[in-house]
Amino acid sequence: MTEILEIDENSLAFAKRIIKEGGAVAFPTETVYGLGANAFDTAAVNGIYKIKGRPSDNPLIVHVHKDYDIGGLVRDIPQYAEKLKEEFLPGPLTMVFKSRGAVSPVVSCGLDTLAVRVPSHSGAQKFLKYVDLPIAAPSANISKHVSPTSAQHVLADLEGKIPLILDGGRCSGGIESTVLDCTGEIPVILRSGLVTREMIEKTVGACGEYAYKEGGVARSPGMKYKHYSPSCRTAMFGWNELQKALELYDEETAKGVKTLILCEESVISLLGGRKYVSLGKTPEEMASRLYAKLRECEKTAELIVAVAPEERGGVMAGVMNRLSKACGNGYER
Ligand code: AMP
Ligand code: MG
Repeated sequence: MTEILEIDENSLAFAKRIIKEGGAVAFPTETVYGLGANAFDTAAVNGIYKIKGRPSDNPLIVHVHKDYDIGGLVRDIPQYAEKLKEEFLPGPLTMVFKSRGAVSPVVSCGLDTLAVRVPSHSGAQKFLKYVDLPIAAPSANISKHVSPTSAQHVLADLEGKIPLILDGGRCSGGIESTVLDCTGEIPVILRSGLVTREMIEKTVGACGEYAYKEGGVARSPGMKYKHYSPSCRTAMFGWNELQKALELYDEETAKGVKTLILCEESVISLLGGRKYVSLGKTPEEMASRLYAKLRECEKTAELIVAVAPEERGGVMAGVMNRLSKACGNGYER
């Protein structure tokens, strides 16, 4: 049985007991819900891969509370990373450093690096402080499905598979953390997110971006997998391909296929009464709603026709990365 409990003294004590005994607990963060286990405990970390059906070469991020000394977990923290920590932590930024090998090797799938994150969500901080352990956690969904941004989303995927979901309400950020490689001369973005390239450049001057090419060696192993996918069919069009999207909608609807258009708010007036779900207006709003909207669509639609929002830099890079992996033929599939 899976319990959903508000975060208080009782649920935290229950969570701590589960973690100490080698189990897994779902907890809220400002990005998406995580599925956490004790990073020192190999059997517990293996359990996470098993529960999610996650490929065993896709490493996990270790989550710690804001007063935790990460110096015991990683080494060679460059000066620019200190600045970024100061500016963005706690927050939706994951930093990859050389590992000290203190946590289970299964966390990083044998890599000599470790990804560390300090979430800002008050419920996450309470949980991490209460257990006072580094918690290895991927998103709390079945592997490749849409990431969860509410306790109900976690339940829909993991009911009966985990004992406890700590309920911290809806996640405000909505897309996973920015993953930043901090092992080189300059930081390199491995996965875009709410801490944007522009924000990093403004803080430390330079920031690279790593683009995985099909068939190539993935520097961040998660890149080569299909992700965030709704359970129905999907199609994806560029923001300037609306006519093609509408043609597909009309063709499929004529065949009796339940079809929904997923698009940004400004496109709605051009849909001529066709059925749609709106992602919202601003990049931040679209990030925050994207996964909930994909889950909403898959409940009723047999086909989602996604129309990419217009490019506008910043957080939009993260939104487009997730949307194209969920609905399109993005290079990272
Ligand atoms: P998820 O837990 O589903 O949010 O995925 C975690 C992301 O962080 C994946 O894209 C991983 O490939 C990436 N990641 C975790 N650990 C490392 C690491 N040591 N080096 C590079 N990327 C990592
Ligand atoms: Mg995930």
